Amino acid sequence: MSTKKGRFGEHGGQYIPETLMNAVIELEEAYERYKNDPQFEAELAQLFNEYAGRPSRLYFAEKMTKDLGGARIYLKREDLNHTGSHKINNVLGQALLAKKMGKTRLIAETGAGQHGVATATAAALFGMECVVFMGEEDTKRQALNVYRMRLLGAEVIPVKTGTATLKDAVSEAMREWTRRISDTHYCLGSVMGPHPFPTIVRDFQSVISKEIKAQMLEMTGHLPDAVIACVGGGSNAMGSFYHFIEDKNVRLIGCEAAGRGVDTFETAATIATGRSGIFHGMKSYFCQDEFGQIAPVYSISAGLDYPGIGPEHAWLHDTGRAEYVPVTDEEAVCAFEYLSRTEGIIPAIESAHAVAHATKIAKDFDKDSSIVITISGRGDKDCAAIARYRGEDINE
Ligand SMILES: *Cc1c(COP(=O)(O)O)cnc(C)c1O
Repeated sequence: MSTKKGRFGEHGGQYIPETLMNAVIELEEAYERYKNDPQFEAELAQLFNEYAGRPSRLYFAEKMTKDLGGARIYLKREDLNHTGSHKINNVLGQALLAKKMGKTRLIAETGAGQHGVATATAAALFGMECVVFMGEEDTKRQALNVYRMRLLGAEVIPVKTGTATLKDAVSEAMREWTRRISDTHYCLGSVMGPHPFPTIVRDFQSVISKEIKAQMLEMTGHLPDAVIACVGGGSNAMGSFYHFIEDKNVRLIGCEAAGRGVDTFETAATIATGRSGIFHGMKSYFCQDEFGQIAPVYSISAGLDYPGIGPEHAWLHDTGRAEYVPVTDEEAVCAFEYLSRTEGIIPAIESAHAVAHATKIAKDFDKDSSIVITISGRGDKDCAAIARYRGEDINE
C-alpha cells in the first residue's frame, strides 16, 4: 500500500502550519512505537472486548435476504457497541495512545455529537480532561448530545465561526491544539486530516473488517462478494474495507450522502460532485464552489454532512478498487424504515444510506453470493428527525 509519508497516491500528506508540525511529528513517532507493541495491543484488545463489547455480531438477515431475492445479506452490528456506533473503536485507540504519550487532556471536534460523546466517554474512563468543539448550530440541533457530553464530564465549546457546523469545529480544534500541545491530544474522529491521522484512525477501525473476515469464513466458509458501508469522512467504511483490499473478488462499495440529489446544491456527495483540493491538512476530494472555496454541504444525516472524504478513499476511487455511489435523503429514510420493519433493527440514518444501496443491488447477485452491510450505528438518535421528515410531530 502506498502509505509512504502518509500519501495515498497523490492524496493525503501534511498541509499544516509550522506551529502544528511538532505535535504531528510527536504523534507520528509515538504511533510508530506503539502500533506493533504487544503490550499496547493487549491493552487495546481488552478495552475493545471488556468495555466496548467487541467483537460485534455479524448477523444473517434472513428476512431481508428472502425479501430482496438475491444475495444473502449479513449485517455487521457496530450499532451494538458501547455508545452506539463504530466511533468508540477509534476513540479507545487514540485515548490509550494519548495516555502512553503522557497526555492528560483530550480535545475533539464533533458534528452530530456522536464522536464527541465517544471521546467524552473515553476521557471519563481514563480520568482525562476533555474539551469538545461543536458548531453552535449543531449544539442547538443536538442538545441531547451536548447534555450527554457534559454529563460525562466534558466541556463543550460552541464554535461561532463560518457556518458554525462540523468543518468549523475541526478548524477550531486544530487551532486549540497548536495552542496547547504539551498536555493535549487531538482525538480526530475520522480518516481525515494531516498524516498520521488517516492511517491511525483506519488502523483502529480496521478491527471491523478483521472481524467480518473471520466471521464470514466461520459462518459460510467464504469471503463476502461485496462489503457496503456509508461514507462521511470515511472511517467506518475504511475500517470495513481495509482487510479486503487485497481480496480483489470482494467488491467494496461506499455510499455517500446525496442529500436532495447530486444535481442540486443540497448534497454532501464528495466523490460524485467534488474536485481535488487541500483542506484540513490533507489533499483529497472536496465539495467546492467555482472559486475553489469549500462549498456548504447538506444531508439529512448529520454524520455524513462533511464537505470532504478521507485521502485513502480518494485513492481507492482513483485506482478503481472501491466504488462510490450517492444515496439520497429519501432513499435513506425509506431504508431506515425498511430495516426497522423487516429485521427489527433501527439503524442510524447514516448507516441507512448503505442499507438503501444494498436493497437496490441485492437482486443482481445470485443466491449463493453474500453482501455484508456495516450498520455503523443505532438509530434512536434519529427517530425524532425522521418523524419530522415524514410530517409527524413528536416530542424529543
Ligand atoms: C460519524 C458517523 C458516521 C460517519 O463517519 P465516518 O467517518 O464516515 O464513518 C457514520 N455512521 C455513524 C453512526 C456515525 O456516528
